[in-house]
Amino acid sequence: MSLGRGIVTILLVSLVALLLPSIDAGRAAPARKVAKARPKPAPAPAKCEMPKFRIVVDVGHTPDSYGALSARNDPEFGFNFRLARLVTAKLKSEGFTATRLLVTDGKARPSLFKRVGAANDGRADLLLSIHHDSVPDKLLETWEFDGAKSYFSDRFSGHSLFVSERNPHFASSLKLARMIGRRLKEQGLHYASQYTLPVMGRYRRQLLDKDVGVYRYDGLVVLSRTRSAAVLLEAGSIINRDEEMEMNSSERQEMIAGAVAAGVGEFCKMR
Ligand SMILES: [Zn+2]
Repeated sequence: MSLGRGIVTILLVSLVALLLPSIDAGRAAPARKVAKARPKPAPAPAKCEMPKFRIVVDVGHTPDSYGALSARNDPEFGFNFRLARLVTAKLKSEGFTATRLLVTDGKARPSLFKRVGAANDGRADLLLSIHHDSVPDKLLETWEFDGAKSYFSDRFSGHSLFVSERNPHFASSLKLARMIGRRLKEQGLHYASQYTLPVMGRYRRQLLDKDVGVYRYDGLVVLSRTRSAAVLLEAGSIINRDEEMEMNSSERQEMIAGAVAAGVGEFCKMR
């Protein structure tokens, strides 16, 4: 576009308009509940053409409301951002050139609706939300890291996948979550099985796929309000001291991003 006319050029500001929800608030585990209305489904494309398939890779939480804190006091938002950026790059390099990274700012709750709005307004075909896990506060233990009292729990580890039955494309979302879960399993990674345990209290979830770790989480805003298929990935536990280190390694990040992209690729081929 030519900028030489002396008139005001209008810039579209997009990112700020977006974002959303977080699954884990503060140090506590996963997500926030919300509303019930089922969004109007986006029409499912007859087939999936990779360059036209609009994938939104949502970075969980915001810089201001950063989600969980790791065992070494690093905010979850940073882990989410690094991995989501890698997932986006991987998807693009494999032919999903319409993939976009969604970074949201602001407070936790409004950011959830911004995310949904961005995905729906952009007529997304798929929303993938990237998070890192923690544990309920009552399970936290203390240790000293870098001279400061810090919190950890080495009791649980692993990734997990969440889908909402209130999403208008629940069946597709579940199918995709299973495909991603299978790819993660093929990499030798295990899923977090604690979500079925009583100790998880209000974070307990129904396990929909015992083989690859897909859970049902109906009330999550980003899953239930999005008009496209939607899957949330908790990539690993950053409150677990060993797993935090692994989640910081480029090897693990590449492994997960590759598994996610392979799962999405398979999903696309089957449509
Ligand atoms: Zn989170």
